[in-house]
Amino acid sequence: MVDSNRLSHAILLCEHNGGGAFPLALALAQYANCRDRKDGDSCGVCPSCHKYRKLIHPDLHFVFPVSSTKELSESEKKAPISDYFLNSFTDLALRNPYFGEQELYESLDIDNKSGNISVNEARRIFEKLSLRASEGFYKVMVIFLPEKMNQEAGNKLLKIIEEPPQQTLFLLISHNPERVLQTIRSRCLRIDLKPMDREEKNTAAPASDNASMRGTITTLLEAVSRKDLAATFPIWESLAETGREKQKEFCLYSEEFIRKIFLVANGLESLADIHPAEEEAIRGLAKGLKPHFYEKALSVLDGVISAVEGNVNPKLVFCDMCNSLLQAM
Ligand SMILES: [Zn+2]
Repeated sequence: MVDSNRLSHAILLCEHNGGGAFPLALALAQYANCRDRKDGDSCGVCPSCHKYRKLIHPDLHFVFPVSSTKELSESEKKAPISDYFLNSFTDLALRNPYFGEQELYESLDIDNKSGNISVNEARRIFEKLSLRASEGFYKVMVIFLPEKMNQEAGNKLLKIIEEPPQQTLFLLISHNPERVLQTIRSRCLRIDLKPMDREEKNTAAPASDNASMRGTITTLLEAVSRKDLAATFPIWESLAETGREKQKEFCLYSEEFIRKIFLVANGLESLADIHPAEEEAIRGLAKGLKPHFYEKALSVLDGVISAVEGNVNPKLVFCDMCNSLLQAM
């Protein structure tokens, strides 16, 4: 559509919860605004792409269902809109673009875990879109869950979709298109996304989220397999400084990672569900770790989780963890 200059100005992407419509919408918007498209893809490096990838492009706007929270000021509480939650939203979207409805509410920390899109929000959309595109070709308005819009908000939005300012692109992402106001639906080009199969989900999983934990456990296990105690010092020191939740998350991730290495080492790779980003590290470690290591390592990590929950001094916990893992080799 972009290449043939026939991009519809309002597209309704329908997905199963977290089924990839959000990353698709972003990819489309980034492509439409890229200065240097190549082979059917955006370049990824021009100033526009750069800002899209960080979700800080001034012509990229997000609307999503919200409700009031304790953190908002008294006046904001009366008419909460997406702008008040933008940081939490972009944090979530960068961490895991395949987020679902409940994940959204949890990350916004809104009361009663359910939100809506109000008429105030529709007014705000109107204001934002009446400004000229500051640098891109398109002003892009991503509306997550338009079915959460009441009649009044819908009518206001409909006016803008019917007579859009020039170079505006509406990307609506719905989990329940039958509940989107019919008048709005009829103005949009509807695209239904097939649910992702397991392999696609694997490839699409939020790899960036796990990249740092993967790096840490890989370096640690490599040091362990060389019996290099000194190389573990910076690792336990930095683990000791992260928060308790992160520490537990690290242990759980590491247990899963070690299970995968065990499966690969034992020729059961098909059961291991390996993400492409993990593959190299897992194969390398499968050769380096001793057969009796795995079971002991898992019990060491279980012990770390209990100690973290029991508020034991984190430096002692993680120093001891590294030592015990070395003993297990
Ligand atoms: Zn580009």
